[in-house]
Amino acid sequence: MNKNDAVKKMTEVMAKLVGYSGKVLPDDVYAKLEELGSKENSNLSKTIYNTMFENQKLAKDLNRPCCQDTGVLQFFVKCGTNFPLIGELEDLLREAVILATKEAPLRHNSVETFDEYNTGLNVGKGTPTVFWEIAPNSDSCEIYSYMAGGGCTLPGKAMVLMPGAGYEGVTRFVLDVMTSYGLNACPPLLVGVGVATSVETAALLSKKALMRPLGKNSENERAAKMEKLLEDGINSIGLGPQGMSGNYSVMGVHIENTARHPSTIGVAVNVGCWSHRKAHIIFDKDLNYTITSHKEANI
Ligand code: SF4
Repeated sequence: MNKNDAVKKMTEVMAKLVGYSGKVLPDDVYAKLEELGSKENSNLSKTIYNTMFENQKLAKDLNRPCCQDTGVLQFFVKCGTNFPLIGELEDLLREAVILATKEAPLRHNSVETFDEYNTGLNVGKGTPTVFWEIAPNSDSCEIYSYMAGGGCTLPGKAMVLMPGAGYEGVTRFVLDVMTSYGLNACPPLLVGVGVATSVETAALLSKKALMRPLGKNSENERAAKMEKLLEDGINSIGLGPQGMSGNYSVMGVHIENTARHPSTIGVAVNVGCWSHRKAHIIFDKDLNYTITSHKEANI
């Protein structure tokens, strides 16, 4: 395959994946919603979950987005230094978003800051956002795509705590965000927490945490324990589905961390809503690909 054909192929695959992910939830999210729905006992909670499942069925059958807010597209890329399209990747992802916007279709969600006009294409200065990780001596490319809707983006917050605040300070920060803005994000929520040195390192980790498959804990034993404690704590707020009260507020809490400066604790929260539209795909050097997030995806 020559380079032009390869770029065209990868653009089309990514456009289809983006469009599809706006209509069909990933397998892990759907399974978790089924689990939480089965554990709610009020009529209101059960009705809301049944409506969510009906919504998912109709979105698939009618080939339409499952939520009107198809978000700003974000891509977490882990690209091998020897992947043949490494130099073309950022441009082709942008093209894929334009294509998906027309074909899926996706709502127009890219407003140029300060100039205050909607580009109508879902691309603009810095959108879609591409977060890069380079894998040395690899020729494959792994991509998470994510639709960052307005409601689920709203609770996002980051700050740097004094070192004496400790892990209690991290807990207070997360619970303050959940009790103030959690409701806006269409629960049950996936809560991503980043713990690092500064606001930007913690913030990026908190969003990356939302890409981790549900049910997988942090590899750090203590962080995994904190995930469980935070999950229990946020559930006890009783947000329930769509914030209408219930036994479960969250699909999970994921913590990602790095080492930090001894004098600071950077902490951040990012939230995914019940309609958590992420997708995961891995390309090899010949552009054969595997979609791991949606086993029924036929792209
Ligand atoms: S929070 Fe999620 S489900 Fe609710 S409107 Fe926004 S994108 Fe849609």
